[in-house]
Amino acid sequence: MDELYDISIIGCGPAGISAALNAKIRNKNILFFGTELCSIKMHKSPIVFNYLGFPKIKGEDLRQKFLKHAEESGIVLINERVEAVYNIENEFHIRCGEKTYRSKSAIIATGINYGRAIKGETEFLGKGVGYCATCDAPLYEGKRVALIAYTDEAETEGNFLSEICEKVYYIPLYKNIGFLNERVEIIRGEPIEITGEQTVKNLVLDTTTLEVSGVFIIKETLPPQQLVPGLEMDGPHIKVNRNMMTNIEGLYAAGDCAGKPYQLSKAVGEGQIAALHAVEYVDKATSSDKMSILLR
Ligand SMILES: Cc1cc2nc3c(=O)[nH]c(=O)nc-3n(C[C@H](O)[C@H](O)[C@H](O)COP(=O)(O)OP(=O)(O)OC[C@H]3O[C@@H](n4cnc5c(N)ncnc54)[C@H](O)[C@@H]3O)c2cc1C
Repeated sequence: MDELYDISIIGCGPAGISAALNAKIRNKNILFFGTELCSIKMHKSPIVFNYLGFPKIKGEDLRQKFLKHAEESGIVLINERVEAVYNIENEFHIRCGEKTYRSKSAIIATGINYGRAIKGETEFLGKGVGYCATCDAPLYEGKRVALIAYTDEAETEGNFLSEICEKVYYIPLYKNIGFLNERVEIIRGEPIEITGEQTVKNLVLDTTTLEVSGVFIIKETLPPQQLVPGLEMDGPHIKVNRNMMTNIEGLYAAGDCAGKPYQLSKAVGEGQIAALHAVEYVDKATSSDKMSILLR
């Protein structure tokens, strides 16, 4: 059985880095997952005026400082996109592609997608619309699918789908395409609507209509309720208490995904609160495990 870690931190923006740093300072054995530059929002932020101690700093410069601080503290980033978090018998199982990691507690710090859902996306979710090709690809064996890609990380998923599906249409919503194999057909256009009856039948773009059985949508961030089954939401945000704990014991959330205002200082502060409470949770769980062994 794989090693059981203390805390998994999912997301490597300011909330995730702050959580990782505070958990590491408390000597916890952590898993720290992230993608997309850690964080693309900071990378895009021209000038930050309101981060204490760093007046008028470029978002990119602050991002580099955060990452350097983490690296110098011995924090190692696992550069993988987490596809699902399952709460199984007081453990959290973190799925990335074919691999599953285990921890006693977990912190969701995945940020938030500012963009709106495509028309039909929510209606057909689970009826042809999905967010994880690795998870759902077998359902589309020998069928035609479309993949709407907000980020180049979708390329791996597109290549993978092409091994299973009859046809993969790839709709990139970013600029520079890296590597897609010749079985994947690139289609340019803006997604307008996903249509169908009981299940998906078409993806309508402003340039053409694609006849498909499935539409995969790969965004920078997965909707949290898709990432963690059973997670309670408050509108678009994860519902948390003052300790940043969610409705699932041992699972915490921090940063933009846990509510407004969408700001750096709030993300960093919440990352710390989440980490300190996760540490407390892990310590209690560990001492009660030891106690039950002694009583046997
Ligand atoms: C243009 C712009 C300018 C801004 N200017 C300011 C400003 O001046 N001052 C201010 O206070 N705030 C500003 N903000 C807001 C600030 O950037 C955000 O509030 C902050 O970055 C939120 O931090 P976060 O850690 O919650 O999420 P994010 O920064 O979004 O980081 C989340 C990270 O998690 C990763 N991730 C997501 N899902 C997964 C997954 N399934 N597996 C692995 N990794 C995953 C993402 O790739 C990302 O790296 C600005 C935002 C933008 C877009």
